[in-house]
Amino acid sequence: MDTYWQKRSQKEIKSTVFNSLEKNVNYNTQNILGIPASYLDEKVFNQDASFVNDAPFISSLIQNPNHIGCHTLGKSESFFQGTQEIEKELIEICAVDILNGEPGKQDGYVASGGTEANIQAIWIYRNYFINQHSAKRDAICIMCSEDSHYSMDKAANLLAIDIYKISVENDARELKEETIKDVILKAKNDGKKYFIVVCNMMTTMFGSVDNIEAYTNQLADLSCEFKLHVDGAYGGFYYPFTNENSLLTFKNKNITSFTLDAHKMAQAPYGTGVFLIRKGYIQNVNTQQARYVEGEDLTLIGSRSGANAIAVWMILVKNGPFGWQEKVFILQKRTEWMCKQLSQLNIEFYRHEMSNIITIKSKYINKEVASKFGLVPDNHTSPQWFKIVIMDHVTIEKLILLIEEIKNSILNKS
Ligand SMILES: *Cc1c(COP(=O)(O)O)cnc(C)c1O
Repeated sequence: MDTYWQKRSQKEIKSTVFNSLEKNVNYNTQNILGIPASYLDEKVFNQDASFVNDAPFISSLIQNPNHIGCHTLGKSESFFQGTQEIEKELIEICAVDILNGEPGKQDGYVASGGTEANIQAIWIYRNYFINQHSAKRDAICIMCSEDSHYSMDKAANLLAIDIYKISVENDARELKEETIKDVILKAKNDGKKYFIVVCNMMTTMFGSVDNIEAYTNQLADLSCEFKLHVDGAYGGFYYPFTNENSLLTFKNKNITSFTLDAHKMAQAPYGTGVFLIRKGYIQNVNTQQARYVEGEDLTLIGSRSGANAIAVWMILVKNGPFGWQEKVFILQKRTEWMCKQLSQLNIEFYRHEMSNIITIKSKYINKEVASKFGLVPDNHTSPQWFKIVIMDHVTIEKLILLIEEIKNSILNKS
């Protein structure tokens, strides 16, 4: 049963958002003199326009609440406590109703995106090993697959820790336990004792999902200290709905945290990465020097727009859990349709059966077709693959045009 996530009418959504905005400070009616914040420039963004009174998201943008800090624990800026409540409910929906966590047992916030949420996770674990295990920085490393997002490389660089990549099979995009074992042994040989493991819940290029047990079996066999983060920046609002028996949820004791991006599959505005972590860990990145912020700051970003959290909350409660299931169901059906067409043409491609990404071997796609249909290559210098992402706007009518074009280019070749 869904604990927090319920479908709500437009009327309910409006009243919830407007009531929460009213509980924030009002720069017009109150004398708020001490914060470097205000509503958006009135000369450009008119608060009194008649349509604004009917538009909760636009109103949130114009009133411009700052959700600086993390609101699921301790104190937060009281100026914006009204809309922070909406963010707290959003975090509960994601952690409990989507990822099977227990109510009230996770912390989280709306980050700028998947990149920040992944760096936040790795930052927390690096400090956790230093604080709790007196680890030396050079004994800590990141471990992830070669298909992982490049934000892991950014994290390694920023946090000054080494990163080890596990190669995957070319066609199946799967991790092998043997390969993981070899990499762990090499890392140990290099003096690594603490592993920050990032498991993919749908990769950016292939939509592939890592076998978490391949990691945890090997880490246990070789008695490694580890913390495991799941990168669901792409798949977070998709895979939990296509795989009922997913091992990538908070029910899995080996997992401590997740990244989910609402600005990908959830069609939210950019700036809506969701970071979630079991309680008791985020304190490892408390910046106590953030003295002017009420409650200090446990996030990487600093100031961030409250309107972003409101947008994601609105999208989820407008659809409701069953509406979401239906949305994903339709995308799955279209993906299956497309795979069938490709198979009939004997075109080789990769698709994880619970995903809406189809990655085609580059020999079947010429440059003209790729650029005409905006197909994205795995790399721009010597592409081996091109991907199709079946989003809301990627309808069968549009896919038919691509199929026709591919057919013609094959005919022309032979
Ligand atoms: C897109 C993506 C990211 C990075 O997210 P941004 O929101 O672009 O910062 C990280 N991981 C995966 C798997 C992604 O698909």
